[in-house]
Amino acid sequence: MRHGMHILLLGSGGREHALAWKIAASPLVTKLWCAPGNAGIAREAECVALDIANHAAVIDFCKTNAVELVVVGPETPLVAGIVDDLAKAGIKAFGPSKQAAQLEGSKGFTKDLCREFDIPTGAYERFDNAADARAYVRAQGAPIVVKADGLAAGKGVVVAKTLAEAEAAVTMMFEGSFGAAGAEVVIEECLVGREISFFALCDGETAIPLASAQDHKRVFDHDEGPNTGGMGAYSPTPFVTPEVHDQIMSRIILPTLAGMKSRDMPFRGVLYAGVMLTAQGPKLFEYNVRFGDPECQVHMLRMMSDLVPALLAACDGQLKNFNLRWYPDPALTVVMAAKGYPGDYKKGTRIDGLDEAAKIEGVEIFHAGTVAKDGAILANGGRVLNVCATGKTVTEAQARAYRAVDLIRWPDGFCRRDIASQAVAQERGD
Ligand code: AMP
Repeated sequence: MRHGMHILLLGSGGREHALAWKIAASPLVTKLWCAPGNAGIAREAECVALDIANHAAVIDFCKTNAVELVVVGPETPLVAGIVDDLAKAGIKAFGPSKQAAQLEGSKGFTKDLCREFDIPTGAYERFDNAADARAYVRAQGAPIVVKADGLAAGKGVVVAKTLAEAEAAVTMMFEGSFGAAGAEVVIEECLVGREISFFALCDGETAIPLASAQDHKRVFDHDEGPNTGGMGAYSPTPFVTPEVHDQIMSRIILPTLAGMKSRDMPFRGVLYAGVMLTAQGPKLFEYNVRFGDPECQVHMLRMMSDLVPALLAACDGQLKNFNLRWYPDPALTVVMAAKGYPGDYKKGTRIDGLDEAAKIEGVEIFHAGTVAKDGAILANGGRVLNVCATGKTVTEAQARAYRAVDLIRWPDGFCRRDIASQAVAQERGD
């Protein structure tokens, strides 16, 4: 393993702050940059104002600064082929190629892969026009799920309870609400059960599962209100039992890796499966091709192994004899968001009390959307802070995280108060 490595991390959210925190702790690394980063990431890495959509600019930066590894946080540059462009320039990058990133970039691609390789998922059809899509919806009946094929910043999925809702979603997508992402639509059976996320580090052939984690997608307590990017997460989750874990690995993750390899698009990076635990067993409803946000935050807190050799082994096809070790203590993160999120919200509001909150035992605060101005921390996005904590139990981690939340003075922010409450109830024996 090389020492004195130069690494560039791409992204600016809480996921990237957690990755920066973990990468900066590696004894292998002498220099870490993050583009574009945020006020919290600036504590771990040197932030650089690079436009990450400009692949040539990223390549130039890497060459000038002898960067040996680029770690790509978000999906957009992956789907745009940044890993391929870096590879052509002789620069190693962690994340899937453009072709392999279709697992997130095209919902139809993933559904066809499931059909071809017998991976359990809901029944579906793909459509390129509204009339046929509406006819299919009417034939299938509600509830039914309507999805824009391409990337739509987490907003391209409508779980329609009625036919009218489903038809309205079809119309909206084909009228161009999601631009090119909605030029094709997937209509899918509505799966019923508990929703869980499953993550595996992959090198094209081998998959090493990450610790189990669960997120909370709805904006308000008790899973009410609209879907968001994620309002909190915790790890481990009692809902991924050893049996469920084995079923997901053998029926979903490994056939996906084998299928992608046979299509000459080996998947390297983090494969993140959205899975419904249905009465007929686990079924895949979506893939993402990167670490979760906010699940990555709890993964990084629980990962005992050095992350950097794991990322390199994934890039180099060397995961076969690799082992990832985890701390047994649970970790939890509470997302603090700007009031109004996931709708309209104000930027530039002031946040105080962060240093005091971070002093609580086991607490780590990652920044998801902040800027520093004249010595103050200001909100600069919808999801703004990730207040994380570890503890001997989920109950202890939860208590620590909310104690920290209560010390943060940000009148324009809010959070859910029930992150991990089901796991806490399970610990109590309810
Ligand atoms: P996504 O934007 O793809 O993460 O999907 C948003 C949410 O829609 C997921 O977190 C699920 O709760 C839900 N969803 C997606 N596909 C299905 C499905 N086939 N059946 C039921 N719910 C679904």
